[in-house]
Amino acid sequence: MVTLLTDSIGRVSALARAARKSVKRFGGVIEPMHTLRISYDDRSGAELVTLREAKLERARPFLTTSLERMQAAGQALSWVRKAAPPRTPEPEVWAALEALLDQLEDPDDTVSPRARLAASGLRLLSAFGWGVDFERCVACGKEATAGQSARIDATRGGLVCRACGGARRQLSGSERSLFRDAAAGGALNDQIAPLALELVEQALKAHGGIE
Ligand SMILES: [Zn+2]
Repeated sequence: MVTLLTDSIGRVSALARAARKSVKRFGGVIEPMHTLRISYDDRSGAELVTLREAKLERARPFLTTSLERMQAAGQALSWVRKAAPPRTPEPEVWAALEALLDQLEDPDDTVSPRARLAASGLRLLSAFGWGVDFERCVACGKEATAGQSARIDATRGGLVCRACGGARRQLSGSERSLFRDAAAGGALNDQIAPLALELVEQALKAHGGIE
């Protein structure tokens, strides 16, 4: 049994009979990190689909040569596997994940895998409808002054202004702007990546108990 994230029906569990042995039907392509073109049987009411055929649509052989790239890809896949509801198309999640895997496959990418993962985490949160608000207080809606630092509580989904009690973590104005851009597809640097990852993990935990 394999878990697939598909562009058309979202996350789905599939039965791949003798997948690892059946070179004829699956060509040994059922490994994570690659994008496949599949055909399957879907009996109504059945929880599982049955995989008929799988071909490589976009292989990512370079990604699998680096432990750091593999770890970044694996973490993102794990987030999506836990956060994506079954059989619900999530085109933005699909796009964010494909973009990350393509970046991790690019040998000339100058951004580190961990920084790519951190930015993708923020983008995935937005794609799931759990985007962290780096502009406004989640309690009263008051907008933070552009360029100014503000308090943030990712478990509550964004900034918490002083009048509403504030929060432990402070973000500078430039951090807020970098994170907002990353959620829309921008890149982060190594210095700021750990903070972004911390916020992503807090938000995922608050939304779905995802760790
Ligand atoms: Zn407030």
